[in-house]
Amino acid sequence: MILDIQNVSKYYGKTRALSEFTAQLTPGVYGFLGPNGAGKSTLMNIITDNLAADSGTITFNGKDTVKMGKKFRDLIGYMPQQQGLYDFFTGRRFLWYMASLKGIRKDVAKERIDKLLEIVNLKSDANRRIGGYSGGMKQRLLIAQALLNDPDILILDEPTAGLDPKERIRIRNFISEIAAGKIVILATHVVSDIEFIAKEVMIIKNGQLIQMDTIPNLLNLIQDKVYEVYVPENELAEVQSRYKVSNVIQDRFGICARIVSGEKPEEYKCRAVTPHLEDLYIYLFD
Ligand code: ADP
Repeated sequence: MILDIQNVSKYYGKTRALSEFTAQLTPGVYGFLGPNGAGKSTLMNIITDNLAADSGTITFNGKDTVKMGKKFRDLIGYMPQQQGLYDFFTGRRFLWYMASLKGIRKDVAKERIDKLLEIVNLKSDANRRIGGYSGGMKQRLLIAQALLNDPDILILDEPTAGLDPKERIRIRNFISEIAAGKIVILATHVVSDIEFIAKEVMIIKNGQLIQMDTIPNLLNLIQDKVYEVYVPENELAEVQSRYKVSNVIQDRFGICARIVSGEKPEEYKCRAVTPHLEDLYIYLFD
């Protein structure tokens, strides 16, 4: 299974939202990382055929996805960002409604809905109104609707938005579990959402794919560039303006800034530390 995105570009008027985006995706979770406005939703809307690209092509197993039309859309599960939910529907009714919109046969839908409610751990709440669900339950229900057609390609736009840390971890683990055999694109601006589950990370900046690789390979880019330095309090502001700082903590020895720098900050007591994805993000975007 291969989704091949070739030189996809999109402008909104004069705004360049996506520029010559090229990537080949096979089954597994792809973290799609970039700040707000980088072009993530634009690409996902083009892949799902909700939006036409200005140029470029997308093929699935060698076939042009726009020409495949409904046949391709039937292979996709999409969880858009902040989708409106029907508060007066029960979780189960919402899934029935979405299944009918997707044209799924009733007998197939019944079986899938029962199974999905179990998978997303909403079985005991299925007959409650969505209005009373927690943020995490709503997100799980939205993921369930994206899985109704057992898609080959699952696209999740900020699936952990608005969730507390515990719910984030649950959703993350859950995505990892359901990903087997599917191409999963998980768009986020939150590094921790993808740090442990992505087979590869695509990093997008100003509409351009600037890096795409496994996390260990990406971290190689900043190997020997991440330091923890102890900084006198009155010099912290200067350090923050001079270096890319990914974290500042106060411990019993003083104020410790974590910086990403090509040169060792000799003027301070410092030690090189193992890079994390968060450091790379600061390095690329700060
Ligand atoms: P992301 O999903 O990474 O936050 P988007 O794809 O939504 O980024 O946006 C990419 C760029 O395109 C941004 O500059 C955004 O302001 C612009 N943009 C997105 N949608 C529209 C639209 N419908 N009309 C005009 N500009 C848009």
